[in-house]
Amino acid sequence: MVVKIFNTLTRKREVFEPNTPGKVGMYVCGPTVYNYIHIGNARTFLSFDVMRRYLEWKGFEVEFVQNITDVDDKIINRANEEGVSPEEVSEKYTDAFQSQMERLGVKPPSVAPKATETIDEMIELIKDLERNGLAYKTPDGVYFSVRKFKEYGKLSRRDLEDMRAGERVDIDPNKEDPMDFALWKLAKPGEPKWPSPWGEGRPGWHIECSAMSLKFLGMSFDIHGGAQDLIFPHHENEVAQSEGATGRKPFVKYWAHGGLLNIDKEKMSKSLGNFTLLQAALKEWSANEIRMFMLGTHYRNPLDFTEKGLFEAKAKVERIETFIANLDFAISSESQRSAAISSEVNSINDRIKKRFIVAMDDDFNSAAALGVVFEHIREVNTLIIGGDEVPENDSLEATKEFLIDLLNNALGLSFMGPGEDAKFAPDDKEIKELLELREQARKEKDWNKADELRQKITDLGFELEDTPQGPRVKKIKS
Ligand SMILES: [Zn+2]
Repeated sequence: MVVKIFNTLTRKREVFEPNTPGKVGMYVCGPTVYNYIHIGNARTFLSFDVMRRYLEWKGFEVEFVQNITDVDDKIINRANEEGVSPEEVSEKYTDAFQSQMERLGVKPPSVAPKATETIDEMIELIKDLERNGLAYKTPDGVYFSVRKFKEYGKLSRRDLEDMRAGERVDIDPNKEDPMDFALWKLAKPGEPKWPSPWGEGRPGWHIECSAMSLKFLGMSFDIHGGAQDLIFPHHENEVAQSEGATGRKPFVKYWAHGGLLNIDKEKMSKSLGNFTLLQAALKEWSANEIRMFMLGTHYRNPLDFTEKGLFEAKAKVERIETFIANLDFAISSESQRSAAISSEVNSINDRIKKRFIVAMDDDFNSAAALGVVFEHIREVNTLIIGGDEVPENDSLEATKEFLIDLLNNALGLSFMGPGEDAKFAPDDKEIKELLELREQARKEKDWNKADELRQKITDLGFELEDTPQGPRVKKIKS
């Protein structure tokens, strides 16, 4: 079974064939660390986390590079506003970014280069562009000459003439073309700066990603990801710089772009002021709930951030937790075991796994894959609850392991693994005694006493349910 991936460059779903069989080089544009990230940014990082995890789950070795843009106008402005140094600003928000990604369950990149640690490579790249006649100097910096790069516009499918017509009057008369963009900006007083052949200054944003991806993944690599709003100009410019400097094509084999997160059908953005910070969302919702919410929509589609959607995701997370608890309960129950039911469960597992793979192979369709998971839960649930017989423990344990492997390893959700404590409390001594006393009371038809004991169990934070296989208790979530 092969993975198919939608390639923005060709606007087609293509069979995924990495340059080196079994190995994947992947780059995703990281944050500019001048502020806390909002949940729309988080969606992008989460989508590519799932793409990476799924490829790893399928056996690919993924080298995942994500930059930290720690030198930028926005950082300088922020530092001036707060009266601190740009380094203080970037360190603060880099730490915040990394710890929030960890809380969200996003795997750390294989390499997370900082722009300020890659300045030498950027300068070399600009020198190559100059040598190839694609860059020129002006009084305030060095610019890329878009009209000299014949294929400019090929990723975003924009025509240079149309772009120019749509451009507002450019205030910089030193540029050869209004669409030319800065590779190197000469420093103004008080700004962070590095020495260069063109004078002290700092890199432009676009050259940072070209330099960092080339440094860690080589001149041609497999997947470059980012949000859709980066296609132009950022990624278009990365293509022009990287291919213009190295002469190697394609710079990136598959361009993957994530859909935006909207609020009331409008893009969530810092400039529009309609954003929810990731850290605020993580106070209200668990990482599992946020991930479940995001994965319910294909990564390329727009997604509306709504409370209703998050409550639905919460209910889905609970459905899975209950199912895992049902499996644990069946494992520990004294019900009759049935080989026939076991083999039925095993064949459901096989069928579901195949369909899960088909869904995810189809351009990482997590929404369809989750649909398959809930179908599995429905089918197996009917075989383990309510009947006189349950599957054998081998089959129940395999089911639990199978489901957790899909959810945790392929999708990055986090449900308890085999051997971890179940949410049920059969081991809690006090609860066990109360349960036995209550069973005794029920046998003696002392309903008042039975009710009293049930209340005691509830007061201790457990929910009691009478099932055909006996009473079961579940910890009530706080
Ligand atoms: Zn980038």
